[in-house]
Amino acid sequence: MTELTNITVLGTGVLGSQIAFQTAYHGHPVVAYDISEEALAAAKERFLGLINTYEAEVEGAAGGKAQEAFDRIRLSADLADAVAEADLVIEAVPENPAIKQSTYEKLAAVAPEHTVFATNSSTLLPSDLMAATGRPDRFLALHFANRIWAMNTAEIMGTAQTDPEVYDRVVRFAEDIGMVPIAMKKEKAGYVLNSLLVPLLQAAGGLIAEGIADPETIDKTWRIGTGAPQGPMQIFDIIGLTTAYNVSMMGDETQQAFAKILKEDYIDQGKLGVATGEGFYRYQ
Ligand code: NAD
Repeated sequence: MTELTNITVLGTGVLGSQIAFQTAYHGHPVVAYDISEEALAAAKERFLGLINTYEAEVEGAAGGKAQEAFDRIRLSADLADAVAEADLVIEAVPENPAIKQSTYEKLAAVAPEHTVFATNSSTLLPSDLMAATGRPDRFLALHFANRIWAMNTAEIMGTAQTDPEVYDRVVRFAEDIGMVPIAMKKEKAGYVLNSLLVPLLQAAGGLIAEGIADPETIDKTWRIGTGAPQGPMQIFDIIGLTTAYNVSMMGDETQQAFAKILKEDYIDQGKLGVATGEGFYRYQ
């Protein structure tokens, strides 16, 4: 079988644009597909922004390399055209089961036989989507993290029906584009990272809601006790307190009490985390 050379990314939003750019940065020809010319115009702006980001944050990207990545990306709003040459299609359309489902049905009808499909979904399992792909043996999850060039994990999760050889090729592809592949042996909601991180953040929120300790004390304990560079409250600031609020609101009574604190003491005062210069901590 061929290696995964020609890559198509479906959806050019926050993550899709980063996946397309990172893949092109590592030398692959990339087609970035979105649903309309308007969405593609927004995609072009994102890619131009990523040139600057890579030049500022990725060693060696200045001096033309980031620009060359941009030049390797072709935009398309025609699905059949976008996937005609694809060895691998990475799907990063909105996290809505109906949209994902219909995207795979349309994709299955036009993609070449050999093309491997991968979903970047954060919350759906690949087995939820595999029937719509028409090729369960060539389908799995390849999950990236926001700010892919710096947070370079690629969690790779197949279903019981994913061909092991396809799985291995996707692992090699992830390495090839500068990721650290996180190989998972079974499906698990939240993958590895969020299976570890979410309980930590919830426990920290609980300590705040119950008035046990303040944010600095919680973080100091975690840093000294484990050697980790950041504590959970610092991580909340990076994620953004609006997201933390939305997630906590869906939790139990303690998590909802934490959500109330987030709203009244932080969000309502414009303290949304690192992005606004202040959350649990102040930033330059
Ligand atoms: P987003 O809303 O920023 O982008 C979605 C893109 O898909 C938009 O450009 C939109 O125009 C396009 N789109 C809409 N309908 C489409 C369709 N039918 N076909 C093709 N494209 C379509 O979303 P996002 O945050 O980039 O998330 C995309 C996927 O990545 C989700 O599955 C999400 O779970 C996953 N993800 C997101 C993050 C994150 O931090 N944002 C992290 C990891 C994984």
